[in-house]
Amino acid sequence: MRWISGSMALILAACAPMAQEQRATPPETAETDALDTISSLVDDQIPGQFDWRQNFPGWYAAVEPYRIIGSGKRGVYFVGTEGLGMYFIPTSAGHILIDGGMPGEGQYVADAIRKLGFDPKDIKILLNSHAHLDHSGGLAELKALTGAQMIASEGDRSALEGGFYLGSEDDTAMNAPPVKVDRTIADGETLTLGDITLTARITPGHSRGCTSWTMPVEQGDKTYQALFFCSATVAANRLVGPPQYDGIVDDYRKTFAMTRDWQPDIFLTNHPEFAGMAAKREKQKAGDPLAFVDRTGFPAMMAKLEQAFEQALQKQTLKHNAIMEQ
Ligand SMILES: [Zn+2]
Repeated sequence: MRWISGSMALILAACAPMAQEQRATPPETAETDALDTISSLVDDQIPGQFDWRQNFPGWYAAVEPYRIIGSGKRGVYFVGTEGLGMYFIPTSAGHILIDGGMPGEGQYVADAIRKLGFDPKDIKILLNSHAHLDHSGGLAELKALTGAQMIASEGDRSALEGGFYLGSEDDTAMNAPPVKVDRTIADGETLTLGDITLTARITPGHSRGCTSWTMPVEQGDKTYQALFFCSATVAANRLVGPPQYDGIVDDYRKTFAMTRDWQPDIFLTNHPEFAGMAAKREKQKAGDPLAFVDRTGFPAMMAKLEQAFEQALQKQTLKHNAIMEQ
């Protein structure tokens, strides 16, 4: 049971170092705080009955959709909520959507796309940063609505198709509506739809098939490299005995090593606060067309996350050893 509570805390804290009052706190501290709060909170719940909406209202709070960067009708658009980043990419041959938000939120995303002047039914490809319910929950609904192809990594396929959180299969509060994966994609593989090409980068750890995407995006006469980063937070992910999934520690380290020299012009996260998106949006509204260009943001975030990972590993190892000695 302790692991069930732990796993619940995992997604909450992993995906949410960010309760309103904690926004200004660095990720590592905030995660610990969120974990402690949430563990006790979750212990009071009937398993499977956790009220996400009540505990994470920001994940459901509407945000006026907008374009992050682009020219003409092309570019990258934000169609998420206050606490969840969903991204819409129109092409000359139909559209691409990354992530679907919480279960039941598919219609919200479709409406956001409509508000931008596009028809959600023209979505041809659905992508997922990782198979945790706050990012995959709305995908089944969106797939039914659009008939789009679901493309995901092999590592996350079982969780998407099974509708569970890998390693916490018994924790029904973590379930998402199952969504069939029509095609898998590997690290470095490209995906082209019309005039747009994305490249998949598998950045595992946070989930086994955690998938980041890169794409060039034009604005004016310049081309910018955009990165849609999966996640690399640990929170309550079980790193030691039994791990959330086999090889999780190596995977995190692989991801930190792999991303060390990445310096995208624009980095986008599935929890907007990680990339300071609300502040960037304000800057954009105030007239800065390059408000989302931020070349130091990604390396700075990754340095903090790597440090937080090593601390979490140490803490979990000590705790595990203490339990084993009892
Ligand atoms: Zn997650």
